[in-house]
Amino acid sequence: MSEPQKVVLLGATGSIGTSVLKVIRAHGDKLQLLAASANSNSEKLMAIAEEFGITDLCLSLSAKSTQTYPDKMNVRTGSNGLEELSALPEADTVVVAIVGSTALQPTLAAIRAGKKVVLANKECLVLGGKFVMEALSRSKSTLIPADSEHNAVFQCLEGAAEKEFSRIILTASGGPFRDMTSKEMEQVTPERALRHPNWSMGPKITVDSATMANKGLELIEAKWLFDAPPEKLEVVVHRESIVHSLVRFKDGCILAQLSPPSMTFALQHALLYPNRSNGVEESLDFSKPLDLSFEPPDFSKFACLRLAREALRAGGAAPAIFNAANETAVEAFLRKRIGFLQIGCIIEDVLNKMEIHEPDSLGDVLAADEEARSISEELINSL
Ligand code: NDP
Ligand code: MG
Repeated sequence: MSEPQKVVLLGATGSIGTSVLKVIRAHGDKLQLLAASANSNSEKLMAIAEEFGITDLCLSLSAKSTQTYPDKMNVRTGSNGLEELSALPEADTVVVAIVGSTALQPTLAAIRAGKKVVLANKECLVLGGKFVMEALSRSKSTLIPADSEHNAVFQCLEGAAEKEFSRIILTASGGPFRDMTSKEMEQVTPERALRHPNWSMGPKITVDSATMANKGLELIEAKWLFDAPPEKLEVVVHRESIVHSLVRFKDGCILAQLSPPSMTFALQHALLYPNRSNGVEESLDFSKPLDLSFEPPDFSKFACLRLAREALRAGGAAPAIFNAANETAVEAFLRKRIGFLQIGCIIEDVLNKMEIHEPDSLGDVLAADEEARSISEELINSL
């Protein structure tokens, strides 16, 4: 029997991290946790370390100085600590399940170190997709998408010749406010936005689902992962979150991937790829009636989706600016500094205020990210 894959899990304490641990527990003969990170939740990280018998850890937001850890633990801190974990010589696979654009540098470090990268984080591709894909082309690393839609597309494209697809169709649940009017959406509180009808996820992506910025980020993510021009990318609202995405081929045939709305399916597929093994959760049961519905999205009601599509078409640094403004505005909404619909207004104002250029280097794109965050903060403060 071959050795189990040694897995570094960045963002082990989050929603995706928890699902990854579920898959690892169920497939101990194939997967072995080697190292894990959290931002500040040291208690949960220590519990994971104890359970899986690992000693290589990282706490990004260091509370280390005020805490003591068992001597055997090697607790790194900060962004360098994440990059060190990504490049651990014994590691085969790095799962990137951190939220936000902080994931960019550790993802690049894993690629440069030639690891298999299981990517759940989407913000790093929206910010620096061009540089992630360039790094991949120069490395023996492989990148397997774990965001459920992109994992579905990846599965549908298996065996297809390059460029045979004519459309990538990403499904969207439409979020909890799909049937609300804009007027009703004005009153939405963070508590209300954090209740998603189909998925249980971290707070940032849950708000992104409610504004549909999430699907916008995913359009940009798909552009990089599948080398797809904007005109080949489409969104369809599918309330049941059973069909995770579809690919239409030149001949008009459409392939789809279906499974219940739980991330363990996509994560297990990505972790074990190219092999398959028993799932950790029950699949669909067709002995009971199952209705699946599809409808076009309302771009006029969901400004964040419209703006992301515009940023995708504009190219250059526009997606990075969209992402930075969105991250800043979502944080402000969760802290009750701005209203729900103001998230879209902030993003639009920032995109209008900044000149969109083609970034020549990672430094360029990081500078655009920083400027967009500071303009967003100014706008939020002025409200
Ligand atoms: P969570 O908020 O649940 O978890 C985030 C994880 O990242 C936690 O381990 C957290 O540590 C850590 N973290 C947070 N901020 C930082 C930081 N600045 N630096 C380093 N680590 C940090 O998020 P999710 O698991 O929901 O999402 C993770 C990523 O996966 C996101 O990019 C999201 O878009 C994507 N994704 C999520 C899906 C889901 O179903 N949840 C589906 C598809 C994609 P701590 O616990 O200490 O705060
Ligand atoms: Mg998704």
